[in-house]
Formats: sequence, structure tokens, C-alpha cells
Amino acid sequence: MMKLCIDLGATNVKSGLIDNGIFIKTATTKTVTDRGLDGVISSVKRAIDGLMSPEVTEICISSAGTIDSERGVVVYATDNLPGYTGFDITGWVKRTYGLKSVAINDGYAALLGEIAINYNYAEKKVIMLTLGSGVGGAYAVNGKIVAGEKNDFARFGHISLYPNGIKCNCGRTGCAERYLSGRAINALAGKYGIGENEVFNELKKGNKNAVSVANEIRKNTALLLEKIYKDNPFDICIMGGGAVDGMGDCFDDIFGGLGYDVRRAKAGNNAGMLGAYYFSLDK
Ligand SMILES: [Zn+2]
Repeated sequence: MMKLCIDLGATNVKSGLIDNGIFIKTATTKTVTDRGLDGVISSVKRAIDGLMSPEVTEICISSAGTIDSERGVVVYATDNLPGYTGFDITGWVKRTYGLKSVAINDGYAALLGEIAINYNYAEKKVIMLTLGSGVGGAYAVNGKIVAGEKNDFARFGHISLYPNGIKCNCGRTGCAERYLSGRAINALAGKYGIGENEVFNELKKGNKNAVSVANEIRKNTALLLEKIYKDNPFDICIMGGGAVDGMGDCFDDIFGGLGYDVRRAKAGNNAGMLGAYYFSLDK
């Protein structure tokens, strides 16, 4: 069964043909964000048309934003994808291509993608934390996403670590995103006189200031995991995202010995598409 999967983000639309869980072909196209919804749709169309073949039976979508997977509709998207809020994306696919379609939030899809390539995760309670331009995450029990509220994937980033901490654009103070996003880590490193995206290279060289930054990341991660665990008890925490990729060999120094089983994400760039594919098998 050949399925065409796409992963729609604010920068790129990734696309892939997956046959029985194996990628046959992948491609990437830029997301058009300066023409409102028409631009976003044209990017999705280009991504799909580029790989479409008569064997495709379904289109599986991993997407930024809050997605109501029951209806296949975008409930909320930030201005990074202008006009996208309210879009019936699976309805559009059905009308345009005459094919079945499913849609799921990209954070949820990334976790399902990790579970897909690590079979023992499917019998466990697993959280995923993504440290990228923001801090996101997801929770799965026995291979299925558990979401307490509609905006659940973003919630991990807005758990307050410090009641009197840094102000967040969500209106609260001390949110995890202000301490653990790639941008926050760069800002912290800057205070120690370390250049942008240099902190983990400096850590490898034994730079004492970089060690202080790493200790802060470690402390804040421990605090966040403790708070997440209270509502979402987990066996394994998978860490992914650009900031984690940048850690390279330092990963275990930063996240080891925290009292949790913390592991690195392994599915890489294709995790979202793979997760959307596996999500469609359940529908
Ligand atoms: Zn916040």
C-alpha cells in the first residue's frame, strides 16, 4: 500500500512516498508564506504533485498547528502559516485528488515516528520533548497519543519552571520555552560570552563557561521533567529538535543521570512523515 506523506512546516514542506513502512522517495519544497492561505495551499499542492503516482492510495499529513484529527481540520495555526487557521486540509485533499486523507499535528507525528522505529516503545509510556525554535512535546501510552487538551503538544513548553522567571509571550512567567528553546540556550550562552550556536562546540573543548550553560540546561530539564511526570508518568523521554541535534556527543553529559531514561530521537528529518503514515494505519 503506497501512501504519499507530507510534513508541513513554516519553512519547508517535506514529502515522501512510503510503501509498507519504507521510504521509496522523498523531496522538499519551500513553504510559501507571503500569499496567505493560497500560498500555503500552493506549497502543499507542489509537494504532493511532485511525488504523485497512480499507486498512491492515501495522503497522510503531518502539520504544524493544532489539528483536529477527527475532522482533519486546522483548529489553530500561528501567523507563521498565514490564513491556515480553520482550513479543512483533509477535505481539500479529498476534493483535489479523490483520495483518502488523514492529518495530525507534527509534534504528535514525530513521536509516532520514533515509536515506529523503536518497537519496544509501543508498549511503554513515552514522552517526547522537542527543543527547537520553541519547546514542544507529546505523550503516548502503548503507541497511542494521549492528549488532555487540544493544544496539548505546545503545553510542555509553557509549563512554568520559575514563578518569578522570564516573561513569556503566552502571558505567563518562567515558561520552559524561555529556558530550553534553541533561542533561549543561545541567549544564555551569550551572557557567558559564547557566540551563537557555539556553546556545544565550546563544551567539547572543556570551556568552563560552556559547562555552566550545560549545567543550567541540565537543571532546567530536570525541573521540567519532574513537572511533566506528575501529570504524564513516563518510562522513557525522547529528546529531539535542532538544539538537541546540536549537542552531538555532549547529549549524555547533559541529560544522563537525571533519574529518568532520556534518549535521543532517532527518526531524524522523516519522523513526521513516518508518524503520519503510522497514524493512518490506525484510522
Ligand atoms: Zn509561555
